[in-house]
Amino acid sequence: MSVDPVALASRLIACHSITPATGEVFDVLEQALVPLGFTVHRMVEGEAPDGPVENLFATRGSGGPHFGFAGHLDVVPPGGGWRTDPFVPTEESGLLYGRGAVDMKSSIACFVAACAEMPEHEGTISLIITGDEEGPATYGTPKLIEWMAGRGIKPDMILIGEPTSEDRLGDIVKIGRRGSVNMWITVPGVQGHVAYPHRADNPIPKLAAVVTALDALHLDDGNEQFQPSNLEITDVRSPGSATNVIPGNGIVQLNIRFNNLQRGADLVAMVERTAEQAAPGSTVKALISGEAFLTPPGPIYEIVRAAIAEETGVEPRLSTHGGTSDGRFLIAVCPVVDFGLPNATMHKLDEAAAIEDIRTLTRIYKRVIKGAVG
Ligand SMILES: [Zn+2]
Repeated sequence: MSVDPVALASRLIACHSITPATGEVFDVLEQALVPLGFTVHRMVEGEAPDGPVENLFATRGSGGPHFGFAGHLDVVPPGGGWRTDPFVPTEESGLLYGRGAVDMKSSIACFVAACAEMPEHEGTISLIITGDEEGPATYGTPKLIEWMAGRGIKPDMILIGEPTSEDRLGDIVKIGRRGSVNMWITVPGVQGHVAYPHRADNPIPKLAAVVTALDALHLDDGNEQFQPSNLEITDVRSPGSATNVIPGNGIVQLNIRFNNLQRGADLVAMVERTAEQAAPGSTVKALISGEAFLTPPGPIYEIVRAAIAEETGVEPRLSTHGGTSDGRFLIAVCPVVDFGLPNATMHKLDEAAAIEDIRTLTRIYKRVIKGAVG
């Protein structure tokens, strides 16, 4: 029984699955997996605004070794101005256009097609697929991990099919990611009339002092696997808009992308200290979206590297650059690497994957399966 990865990717793209996703797009995946001998579990959890979210766990075989493939069927909103309808898969000049063609419905289709070509294997193959990777992920992969833990399901290694390649298919494998934290510092003041400054307390000069102090911070120099951690101030604002009003407070918004030398909570404490020194009475609100992680060297590195090199002749670079992925959650289960299609058009207008790359990625995934459970 064979599965055409381009046809399956097209059927998935045709489903409207803007994050958080449920329903039809999971029906399509289930219909592809069941004839291949997979047992499929689907669960819908959560309520608005972060839900409902559908998650799917599919498994074939039994015992070890246990190889997992993780991914997401939700997509980011298409935005206006596409050449084609983003939810009508369109093949043109060797490219498959549609929202999710790159990030990451095609990659899931490639993995399913690879499983179809490997009907016999040792151990277990599982697919760990969420409907909320692009959103807050409250009911996404963390819930799947809970579900698996409750049943004693623990893969030995997981490949996430996120689009990690850059200039050509196979050039980049992600072996970890930086962490990310957003913070909002409120600098206190007392609102008043500009003509009566003695009755007010202008927060803006203090806000400037906070910005200067934050900008002078040196977090670290990075290490062999990670670039230096970086703090970026992303907004400064105050509620004032009239020209004759001293505003009552000021807000500094910032993001830190950090490596595995830092922990989110320590960075929040450091920013709190810095703000308090520069502008006493400042308060900090923080949201840690993920800690940094690094998969220690092990068999998954070599299995993925060898599969790419044998199929494409490309020696991949092992990288920790770029945005975060659900690897931040899955690393708690087992070693995790991310590898998938070239990512140039992900989240953009006219998102498109090369049809040749989809076919090659299927062959690479087949070699990965062979290496892991063949
Ligand atoms: Zn993605």
